[in-house]
Amino acid sequence: MPSIDLQPDRPHSARIYDYLLGGKDNFEADRAAAREMLKHTPNLAISMRANRRFMGKVGVYLAANGIRQFLDVGTGLPTHPNLHESVQGVAPDASVVYVDNDPLVLTHARALLTPVGTGRVAYLDADLRRPDDILRSPDVTAFDLSQPVALTLIAVLQHITDDEQVLDIIARLTRPLASGSAIAISSVTVENDPDGGPGTVRTYNQNGVPVVARNRAGVEALFAGFELVEPGVVPVHHWRPGEEDKQVSDRDVYMYGAVAIKP
Ligand code: SAH
Repeated sequence: MPSIDLQPDRPHSARIYDYLLGGKDNFEADRAAAREMLKHTPNLAISMRANRRFMGKVGVYLAANGIRQFLDVGTGLPTHPNLHESVQGVAPDASVVYVDNDPLVLTHARALLTPVGTGRVAYLDADLRRPDDILRSPDVTAFDLSQPVALTLIAVLQHITDDEQVLDIIARLTRPLASGSAIAISSVTVENDPDGGPGTVRTYNQNGVPVVARNRAGVEALFAGFELVEPGVVPVHHWRPGEEDKQVSDRDVYMYGAVAIKP
């Protein structure tokens, strides 16, 4: 295997998230940035756990509604349940292709690649900002495009700060997909906490990790051309809430999310 530069001296999104979720796959630079964020937003981990539950709820919902092919971009470090575990728990024959551009996520990808069903699970080291590379990869061309695909962009679009660029990426990735395909998005907001939230967004940016906070209308705009599924764009713990979601305070959740269908 060629040597991979993990850039341990520079904070990375996936590793800050891992640290705040209680994981071990992070370096001192990630922990220092995270500690600075906790000064502004002490309950940030609550938001991250709610986001991770959103991913699981979305996977179960889409699999239960017949989708059997998933393209997950901005996968992050393995954390149970991973998307394929949620999806294959409902539909064992469903396939999941994971995509991330972080070198540490790549080194841990094998942990993601243990199917719990019979469907294919694959990992692709690629950049969301180069959607055509993703579409051309053999892992993605193996999809049956006569059947629906779910594109899941969970807690990744806040790192692409230009809305036009995000819309272009979504348009390119979904153009070849069949009617009935789905997109699921969660992205950062500070509307819940205008006092603390902006400090954490600033800390990400000061540490070289671009992050933009969007308001609800800004996240809704990312679904242009798609039909939102009930309840539309909501704080992620309000999306088809389970018991744990109901314990969470609105103030603590810095993520809007929704699912929508390609007409
Ligand atoms: N989806 C997971 C992880 C979110 S953390 C979850 O919600 O639990 C955000 C992830 O997006 C990180 O792993 C980061 O490496 C990845 N990411 C950020 N920018 C990216 C890009 N341009 N291309 C691919 N992945 C990207």
